[in-house]
Amino acid sequence: MDRGFDQRDVADFGDVLGRAAADPSLRASSIVPTKENDALLQALLQISFESPLDPGRVLDFLCLGFEHGQVHTRHPRYFGLLHTAPSEIASMAAALVAVFNPQLATRSHAPFAVDLEEHLVRALAHRFGYARENVEGTFTNGGAEANATALFLALSRAFPEWETRGVRAFSRDPKIYVSAEAHPTMARAARLAGLGTDAVRTIPVDATHRMKVSTLRETIANDRASNGTPLLIVATAGTTNSGAIDPLLDVASIAERASAWFHVDAAWGGLLALVPEQSRHLEGIARADSIAFDPHKTLSVPLGCGMFLTRRPGSLAKAFHDRAGYMPRKADRDPYARSMAWSRRFIGAPLFAELASLGWTGVAERLRTQLAMGELLKTRLREANFQVVNETPLPVACFVDRTRKGGDRGAFLGAVMREVVGSNAGWLSVTRLSNGAKVLRACVTNIHTDERDVERLVQALERARHIDASCKDSPA
Ligand SMILES: *Cc1c(COP(=O)(O)O)cnc(C)c1O
Repeated sequence: MDRGFDQRDVADFGDVLGRAAADPSLRASSIVPTKENDALLQALLQISFESPLDPGRVLDFLCLGFEHGQVHTRHPRYFGLLHTAPSEIASMAAALVAVFNPQLATRSHAPFAVDLEEHLVRALAHRFGYARENVEGTFTNGGAEANATALFLALSRAFPEWETRGVRAFSRDPKIYVSAEAHPTMARAARLAGLGTDAVRTIPVDATHRMKVSTLRETIANDRASNGTPLLIVATAGTTNSGAIDPLLDVASIAERASAWFHVDAAWGGLLALVPEQSRHLEGIARADSIAFDPHKTLSVPLGCGMFLTRRPGSLAKAFHDRAGYMPRKADRDPYARSMAWSRRFIGAPLFAELASLGWTGVAERLRTQLAMGELLKTRLREANFQVVNETPLPVACFVDRTRKGGDRGAFLGAVMREVVGSNAGWLSVTRLSNGAKVLRACVTNIHTDERDVERLVQALERARHIDASCKDSPA
């Protein structure tokens, strides 16, 4: 036990943690950082680490910081960017992980944790339609890491000499295909892998923000004609902006014909696979060589929980194997030899706690509620004469105000957004779609959002649309 922090403090802190995890006053509290945060920053700058502070005060300080110094993504009226509200049991599991601190580089150090994660990988992969006996995967920090993992596997399959010769192994120019609404992490991965963003072909989207497959076909043909080779084709199942799902079946066929690695970025939209009557929206996903899925966006688990799944067993080890004198020689089940991370925490534990305590039916029930709140939000916005411009089964609305001239201009939308957020009626954002249009974006991100919250947001929007919008569009 640390000096100055005794058994009683630990018990007290357990209470604090429990109360924070199930905070009944959350709905009434500020969604965004409060003014107190300025005072906290001043107090922080006074802490020079020269002399020790009382541990109880240190934790109180952290709690104040959490309370006042963040956007509360777990707030029921956080209509934001895919961050969720961890359930009580998932938070508690994460706290247990921090206490026991199993080390997941090698299986020998944490056989229970490694077996449990493998079990979860198979269970989730099965929900996406992969055969249980023919999958492997790894937990990641999130979708960014999972998308980069797909690129490395595609490179290692297409160019066996890539491992030793790097980019010099390429006889032809490898190309990556994504939609204009795809997440930027794929282009980042291309940059970091030394391919450069010129290797990324951005395929335009149609009016529903889905990848235009005819253009995908043409672009591949043109690339082939000029020394390019299709390395990786990425379909997004649930774009971050508008929830669009690329035509997975068509993209699958194109990828198969082109012998390219087919990756589905289902970081967010993957949740549809867990709701039986919605899974048809992901038809074709099982034909993907790999899938990225983010439990930390769609299931109620804390941040830092992503998954990479593939139906190409052995490909992770092929891309990531390493040798170190102090590591076991036979490493086929060691996470360090099958992922970008080396030492890492037990990422899967909160997800396990969540799934095991709810069961698939419980999970589906919760997601259904979230989807229903998304539908209610879209309906109420339309009734209030906002124009919803996106089409998706996912609980996100992109919208503009058609009742007034200039109701779709960035400056107006920004002013409306600030007004709503400033009144604490809800957190929402303004985003720019790939066609250049600016829209308000509101997304149901957690299981606590209910009819009252949706109503309050829509009413605040109706009030805010009357603000003075003589404001000119700021230069984009
Ligand atoms: C959020 C998101 C990512 C990035 O995932 P992180 O978990 O933030 O690393 C990738 N793709 C899509 C579609 C996303 O929505």
